[in-house]
Amino acid sequence: MQHCIEEILENCRRYTLDGEVASYIPELSKANREEIGIYVATEDGDFFAGDWEKPFTIQSIAKTIFLMLAAKDNGIDFVKAHVGVEATGKSFNAIDYAEPLLLREHINPMVNIGAIAVCGMVKAVSNEERFQRLMTFSRRIMENDELQIDEEVYASEKKTGNKNRALAYLLKNSDMIYGSVEELLDVYFAMCSLKVNCRDLARMALVLAHHGKNVHTGEQVIPEEDAVFMNAVLTTSGMYDGSGEFATTVGIPAKSGVGGGIMADCPGRMGIGIYSPALDKKGNSVAGIRMLEVLSKSQKLSIF
Ligand code: GLN
Repeated sequence: MQHCIEEILENCRRYTLDGEVASYIPELSKANREEIGIYVATEDGDFFAGDWEKPFTIQSIAKTIFLMLAAKDNGIDFVKAHVGVEATGKSFNAIDYAEPLLLREHINPMVNIGAIAVCGMVKAVSNEERFQRLMTFSRRIMENDELQIDEEVYASEKKTGNKNRALAYLLKNSDMIYGSVEELLDVYFAMCSLKVNCRDLARMALVLAHHGKNVHTGEQVIPEEDAVFMNAVLTTSGMYDGSGEFATTVGIPAKSGVGGGIMADCPGRMGIGIYSPALDKKGNSVAGIRMLEVLSKSQKLSIF
């Protein structure tokens, strides 16, 4: 397996030249688009290649953290009563939603507008507490007590994130956010700026691959039914408006972020963390998808 991972990475390296690093968050444009890393975590051992240790910001993969904690706090039915689970077919930061937003089927937790709403469902008496609970949960599910926020990316996103601000005020207008919009956005921006590496993502994915259980410690990190729910949501909308294509070529639950990360899991088998910051027009890592495609075909990972 180790040899297979190394070979896949080398064969896919050239695809890094086909994408562009995200620039709409200015700090992200500093990334080196030629970097590429992969980490595969299994119950029996780990395999890795390339720049897997390189830290990058988690960005939209934080949406899975919001959803896991909100579902754990409130139950899946509560979350689904407010935010739908249909693929939107729109870009991740789309704003062209029909009014009223209360038509919950129009949004889902894997696009920005839905994720901001779900972030607000994480139980806390203050947004500071909400942030701390999300950090504690992230450190636990990724088995890494050292996780921190990238302060530069956070400041950059807070300064320029006016579209997310607009989305959040739309939610507020439809009574889908309680309390301060700006404070909730701070939590959202900070969590998108969580610094992770491929191993962190692979560890989180391994929990999803094993019905919410950490197979190393035996701890049930999230309820079994929540893990099944998460995998379903990731399969239908984790790769934004590229989710259908990804299902046909790779066929496993996955979530991407504009930092260049992809977290993917093959139920019962493995958790995968990918990093390669050159993105396609939809905001997904070009070489990252290619690596997953080859890995899926060679290891017969598709769930379909
Ligand atoms: N923080 C980013 C944003 O809200 C996340 C988007 C992404 O990774 N697609 O715009």
